Parts: sequence; C-alpha cells; structure tokens
Amino acid sequence: MLTIDGAMGEGGGQVLRTSLALSAVTGTPFRIEGIRAKRKRPGLLRQHLTAVRAIAEVCGGRVSGDNLGSCALTFEPGQTQHGDYHFAVGTAGSATLVFQTVLPPLLMAEGRSQLVLEGGTHNPMAPPFDFIAQTFLPLLHRMGASVSAELKRPGFYPAGGGRFQVDMVGGSPLAGLSLLERGDIERVDIKAVVSQIPERVAEREMKALAGQLADLPIRVDTARVESAGPGNVATVTVRAAHITETFTGFGEHGVRAEKVAHRLAGEVRKYLTADVPVDEHLADQLLIPLALGGGGQFRTTEPSLHTRTNVEVIGLFMPGRVMLDEGGTRICVGRALQ
Ligand code: ATP
Repeated sequence: MLTIDGAMGEGGGQVLRTSLALSAVTGTPFRIEGIRAKRKRPGLLRQHLTAVRAIAEVCGGRVSGDNLGSCALTFEPGQTQHGDYHFAVGTAGSATLVFQTVLPPLLMAEGRSQLVLEGGTHNPMAPPFDFIAQTFLPLLHRMGASVSAELKRPGFYPAGGGRFQVDMVGGSPLAGLSLLERGDIERVDIKAVVSQIPERVAEREMKALAGQLADLPIRVDTARVESAGPGNVATVTVRAAHITETFTGFGEHGVRAEKVAHRLAGEVRKYLTADVPVDEHLADQLLIPLALGGGGQFRTTEPSLHTRTNVEVIGLFMPGRVMLDEGGTRICVGRALQ
C-alpha cells in the first residue's frame, strides 16, 4: 500500500483527487495522511467527500476515514464498472472536480456510462463547466475518447444547485497527443452570463473586455441564465489553429464589472504573450489522460505548483511517466512523440 503525504506540493484537494483516480486505474491501494494540510480548513470538505464516495462507487472500492473533516483515509480500489451514476455534492462545492476524479477510471473501463453531477458548475479555483466542455473534452476527443458533457443548469457559489450530464464510452486506448504550438488565432468568443443580477453587469463586463481585446477577432455575447441563486461569470474562449483555451472571470459582490473584465483580459494577454498552446490550468489537468494513454508532450507557461504536484503524485503511481523539460515549460509524458 502506498502512503501519501497530503501536504506534499500544493497540499490541497488535488493530491487526494489524483491519488484516488490513479489508485482506481492502477489497482494500487493507498493511505493518505494530512489531507489538504496546507488549507485554512484542512480535511475533507463536502466536495472532496463526494469525490471519495463517487470513486468508491465507480470502482467498487473500500474506504475508511470518509467523513467530513477527516484528515486521513485509506482506499482500496476494486474493479471499475461502467454504468449510470448520479453524484450530488449537496453544497455549492465543485461538481466538475468530482467529475475530474471519476473520469480516469471510467475512461479506461470498457462500456457506456452516463453521469449526472450536481453542485457548483462555475466555481473559482475549479474548472468551470465551459472549460471542461470547450477545452478539456475536445482534447480527449483528439486522443480518441468518446466523452460529451451537457450543462443542464449552472450552479454558482453560494447557492449551488447546478447540474450537468456526461455521456461517455470507455475502453478505447487513448492515442498520444502533441501540443507544441498554439497556431494562429481564428476567433475569440467573449461571453458574460448573469443569474438573478442585472443584465447591465454582463453588458459592462463585455464592453470593457471588448475594449481591451479589440485587436483580436472577437465575437461578443451576453446571456441571462436560470440558476438557484445569483451568479455572474465572464468567459473568454481563444480558438486557435491547434487548441481552444478558456479563461474565466468571476463576478464578486463589491467588485466592479470593469475590474472583473480587466483581470480576465490580463490573464488572456499573459497567455497570448507566452505564445504556448497550453495554459496553467489545462497543464495540470492534461497530465492524467496523457499518462494513461499513449503519452505525448506539450508546451506551457511556467508550471504552477498544481502542475508540479500532479507530476509528483503521478510519479508515485506510475513512476517515470512524466518529465519536465526546458524549465518545466515543455512537459513530456511517456515516450515523447516526434
Ligand atoms: P483545495 O486546494 O482547497 O483543496 P480544491 O480541492 O477545490 O481546493 P485544488 O486542489 O486547488 O482544488 O485544484 C483545483 C483544480 O481546478 C486544478 O486542477 C486547477 O487547474 C483547476 N482550476 C482552477 N481554476 C481554474 C480555471 N479558471 N479554469 C480551469 N481550471 C481551473
């Protein structure tokens, strides 16, 4: 049994989620201590607990220590079964992070699955649904996986109540992926959505963003959506020849719409200036599918602590599979593609 120090690297929920996913895929039992040790409120929050129970259900795993606030647990995976699953966080905690946890074993298991996930769909510090649908899943498609996701209702902090459905067929071997160039920018979609707050907030965000990104081939959209509570997100989708990247800004009480737009435009500019295909968040999330499949390589910005930590955790379950090159801005998984 592997012993994992939950305080390693970024010391947050990702150490736990990657361990659960790779444990299920490789059949390696593990014990983790110091779960989320570097967070203000350490231990399992509702979102992490949902992920633990979800993966135990998917792979017939045995868990001890799966209670709220728990700082240690033991996980013994069984055999992953495709099928219909319903996972509800029960709070506004991120449902996309629950998806991130159960996806790897279901990708590897032969057969059709349908997942319904409930909770937050657009949370700061988690992959927003649009990032999953527009950036992450299309890359999995390119690797030969069949996974599609549909947003049924967005869920924002603090009310939650979001829901999305994933339909997938697992069991096909994943092809290698090489993402070394971004390619020319074909279109940049900028969109702001609001729920239960005035639409002019979205309009102001779009006006400010359109002004700051005016040199790009932008297309602007605003929308009012139905959700259980108030919420506002602005999304910039950069569609380039070899990749689509998604950037998200979150409206906050007391923060001007123009400021939300300004921060978001800054993130987009940073990405464009770096002239690499893979941005920070995608980098840490791509590592697992690449490690499970035919490997590959990608160029990214200065690797985040999340990326470095994921490399370390993957190394515990699949030694030597991921290598950082060129100061971490070129990441090679398995045998690098030509
Ligand atoms: P904690 O660290 O408090 O336990 P957590 O479990 O919610 O938090 P983290 O461990 O911080 O989550 O991991 C967050 C994940 O969400 C990472 O994979 C990161 O790349 C991803 N992420 C965060 N923000 C974005 C974003 N704007 N777009 C896409 N992905 C994001």
